[in-house]
Amino acid sequence: MEKVICKKCGKEYAYEFWGTVYPGGKDKEYVDCPYCGETAFTRMTSQNVSSYKLDAKGNPVR
Ligand SMILES: [Zn+2]
Repeated sequence: MEKVICKKCGKEYAYEFWGTVYPGGKDKEYVDCPYCGETAFTRMTSQNVSSYKLDAKGNPVR
């Protein structure tokens, strides 16, 4: 789990890549802010990505 601060709304959120890494079949995955939808960055990967809002203690809300 990584954390990033949205460049648009300034809120911090968490994201993680999950699923199997395999050769070929890569797709562009978008890491999007769960608050405003701004894309932080993209990555070419065979995995999936999920992003999570953080609770008051800074823990991801699943
Ligand atoms: Zn945002």
